[in-house]
Amino acid sequence: MIWRKAVRILSERRQKRRPLRTCVACREKRDQRELMRITASKDGVVTLDSQQKLPGRGAYICYRQECVEKAKKRDLLRRALKCSVPEEIWGIIDCTVADVSSPGKGLTRRMPEGMVCMADIERKGSESVDRQEE
Ligand SMILES: [Zn+2]
Repeated sequence: MIWRKAVRILSERRQKRRPLRTCVACREKRDQRELMRITASKDGVVTLDSQQKLPGRGAYICYRQECVEKAKKRDLLRRALKCSVPEEIWGIIDCTVADVSSPGKGLTRRMPEGMVCMADIERKGSESVDRQEE
């Protein structure tokens, strides 16, 4: 019984930390962790924010091929971020979606750290980013 209570407290606490975000393509509201966050810094550098902690303007998109396609076709990320999204970032998004939707990985799982592409990490590496640890 005690154990069950502990589980309930834990899940309640988890719920509180779940902000909902809207996918730019399908406009569905989802748990932030079920979405990719793409950010644009003040200098217009677009990155896939795998930790969801980067400052700057952010846009969210599902880990779904159809949403990515739609966003690409209609230029939805550029509109949301107010700056253009380089081909390279689309490549990263594509490979992330392919990876996440491959068998054995749940869609709702949070992206493991460092899973995203090297181009993203290299670019960010030199910048100093204020990271707020939870
Ligand atoms: Zn979507």
